[in-house]
Amino acid sequence: MEEIVLPAPAKINLALKVKGLRADGYHELEMIMQTIGLHDRVHLKKIAGGIRVVSSHPGLPEGSGNLAYRAAEFILEQSGIDGGVEIFIEKNIPLAAGLAGGSTDAAAVLKGISKLYQLKISDEVIREMASKLGSDVSFCLKGGTSYAYGRGEQLEQLPDLNKIHIILITPPVEVSTAFIYREYDRLKNGLEIPVSRLVEIIKQGKEINWQEGWANDLEPVTARLFNDIYEIKGILKEMGVKFSLMTGSGPTIFGILDKGEEALFIKDNWPRKEDFVFVTSTVKQEFSELW
Ligand code: ATP
Repeated sequence: MEEIVLPAPAKINLALKVKGLRADGYHELEMIMQTIGLHDRVHLKKIAGGIRVVSSHPGLPEGSGNLAYRAAEFILEQSGIDGGVEIFIEKNIPLAAGLAGGSTDAAAVLKGISKLYQLKISDEVIREMASKLGSDVSFCLKGGTSYAYGRGEQLEQLPDLNKIHIILITPPVEVSTAFIYREYDRLKNGLEIPVSRLVEIIKQGKEINWQEGWANDLEPVTARLFNDIYEIKGILKEMGVKFSLMTGSGPTIFGILDKGEEALFIKDNWPRKEDFVFVTSTVKQEFSELW
């Protein structure tokens, strides 16, 4: 095999609870993570040596600043291969949007290089590399629905949810994840988010009642800085969305809908022309396994 193309799907946080600041500077988190259909496509090609990263997005770093580059460097070094890789990233996931765009590309590179070079390394070793590359890379490697804890790299796989139709709205504002966490620490006003109860609901396969405490501790923090967050949530509500929430540290907001057509209607009639709008849905874990 000389070339391989892998889809690298985005994630949303169905709930995100910040539990506190750890001695190592990371935050202790509890999250429910969910893979969605919106994805980048990562093309990998064997080359004689070295790593080259090119992308379809002008704003994306192309050298070692790209997380995909670091993933390739890591796995090539660890496995002592005589050969390199050319990576082309077809970028569809908005950057720095709370959708784990960089982490999912990195996870795809780990999987892809392992396949391309038919490496004899265990899944366990790949998982360890993922957790060293970034907190969200572990989840992106696994996919589906997970309860994530620690700094987000500890995962408990949950049963797949029934397909949920989603509208994603990304306003054109730049959010620094580090800054949002610092603000969270300064404001110290966490929400009541019963993550373990929500996990139980998913485990028991019960119907999800979105009025039941599904929330994100970072949403009010990012919303203090950008009016867009609550404005978008307000418009989504007016347009019939029963539940909406910011994902990660933002600024993307996702809305939950019963039918795909409702999501398409909102996309076609979205009044804030400056936003990026995507219609997507949740993805089952078995699809990530196939990738
Ligand atoms: P998270 O949800 O994990 O916080 P995010 O979706 O908010 O992630 P990313 O899209 O992963 O954020 O990107 C954050 C920054 O990382 C970008 O501004 C970009 O410069 C850098 N970056 C490096 N490699 C990539 C990549 N392959 N894709 C996207 N961003 C990347």
